[in-house]
Amino acid sequence: MTEQRIYLDSAASTPVADEVIQEMIPYLKQQFGNPSSIHYFGREATRAIQLARKRVAGLVGAAKPQEITFTSGGTEADNLAIKGTADYARSKDPSKNHVITSYIEHDAVLEPCRDLERLGYSVTFLPVTQEGLVRPEDLKGAITPSTALVSIMHANNEVGTIQPVKELARIAHDAGALFHTDAVQAAGKMPVDVRDLGVDLLSMSSHKINGPKGVGALYIRDGLEIMPIIHGGGQESAMRSGTENVPGIVGFGKACELAGGRLPEYQRQVSALRDYLIEKVLSEIPHSRLNGSKTNRLAPNAHFTFFGVNGEDLIIKLDEDGIAASTGSACSVKKQKPSHVLKAMGFSYEEITGSLRISLSMQNTKEEMDRTVSALAGVVKELRSLSPFKSKYYT
Ligand code: PMP
Repeated sequence: MTEQRIYLDSAASTPVADEVIQEMIPYLKQQFGNPSSIHYFGREATRAIQLARKRVAGLVGAAKPQEITFTSGGTEADNLAIKGTADYARSKDPSKNHVITSYIEHDAVLEPCRDLERLGYSVTFLPVTQEGLVRPEDLKGAITPSTALVSIMHANNEVGTIQPVKELARIAHDAGALFHTDAVQAAGKMPVDVRDLGVDLLSMSSHKINGPKGVGALYIRDGLEIMPIIHGGGQESAMRSGTENVPGIVGFGKACELAGGRLPEYQRQVSALRDYLIEKVLSEIPHSRLNGSKTNRLAPNAHFTFFGVNGEDLIIKLDEDGIAASTGSACSVKKQKPSHVLKAMGFSYEEITGSLRISLSMQNTKEEMDRTVSALAGVVKELRSLSPFKSKYYT
């Protein structure tokens, strides 16, 4: 491989921006203090966390910085939202023992929900449409007076479908339940405003928006009480104990500021590039299909099925050509598991295994899209010639 590698997996992770690294460096070196210390070094670390909290709050329209609790990432934020809310609700009223989510959530939501079932809660998993949308009437039908929490993701990490979060949150509140949304993919890539959406809890992650890995946040609406899941020295208003990841939090804050500042330009540029790619793929590669919603789609995401090929073979072949994309249960180490998202969208086994996710960033170019489609066309043709479906799709 002599050409430059092409990275088309921004939904999995992104490089840390130079401006972010520059802000982090002092907190790895000179300003290394523990925020719990009273002396100068501790105060400097505390001050840096306060600024980051303001910046993170700003990206999602939180009224008060204290509404932001830093975590080790999106996964911990989801766990804290779900288990912390369920635990608190049941401790106050034992009949509040029901949680509603959907079948297309990230494992960081599905697994804590399954753990709640083990702990004696009941959990309802809502179905979705073929486009990956939760139907408000399904939520209305599932909600009961014992429902403590509804957790529906803002934008899906595989197909990029954006849920009608505002409407779903209203339904939850009308029935006396709280509403959480996993906005790990959405925050920084589309306008997200916790007050406009009317959500009680919202999860974010730094490494999806050019911040460092291992840091994220949970927005917890002012006045809302939930139970911590990590206990100890009482950091983060006792909501998440343990010495804060100060350089990571500083970097996350800067990443939020950058993402907020470039949002309109990001959306315009990235969605135009994505539409160019979609058009080219569908017109140049036979038996290909775009998955997900045509209208409610996150700017960077394109998701395809190439009939008659295996997605993992596709990824390996593209990787040999220097192109990094993803398939199956993206963002999970359980690579062999067929995508639960596509399954819930009613896809057949063949439609699932032939799937490819491409997620773009502002660094990608039109030339990269051209090179990608040309490589993809060749690889798909080659794989089809080898596959048992050859007679059907090989042309
Ligand atoms: N939720 C969604 C929708 C995600 O895409 C991810 C990242 N794959 C997570 C949660 C987990 O975030 P983190 O990697 O920060 O733990």
